[in-house]
Amino acid sequence: MFGRARAHREFREAQRAGHALLHTMQSHPGFQPPAPPADQAPDPAAEAVVPDFLPPDLRVPSRQDVEGLMMRWQQPLVIDGEVRSCPECGAYRDWIIFSMCDDTIHLRCRAGHTTPEPRLDPVWFNRNSGPVDHFHPTLDEGLRHLGH
Ligand SMILES: [Zn+2]
Repeated sequence: MFGRARAHREFREAQRAGHALLHTMQSHPGFQPPAPPADQAPDPAAEAVVPDFLPPDLRVPSRQDVEGLMMRWQQPLVIDGEVRSCPECGAYRDWIIFSMCDDTIHLRCRAGHTTPEPRLDPVWFNRNSGPVDHFHPTLDEGLRHLGH
């Protein structure tokens, strides 16, 4: 008997609950399920973000942004009337000439020996080099490009 009475009470409570829910929906025609979480809704702020700068790999570096300039010099390099040769190996042709940001000039022979050449300067370099047409992220890439 107790069991049946409890069942009856639970039925009535469920009926009341059901009625209460129905009443809510009827009284609020605009009742809507809860809005989706904010992170699923379109975020106008996110779509409005427009980069105001180019990615780094699209920027052309200026001469101030690079460590130095380099060019290949295949013929003998004559400075003050004498042929410059490598103090290490005696090579006298096929140089890579560097014009560094600190206004120094360095020579690199085919064997990879690098020596400063204080008798040359960036003015000389600019007079004898063509326009800058390549940017090399590393020295090795520049050397490879120039054939060393
Ligand atoms: Zn050398």
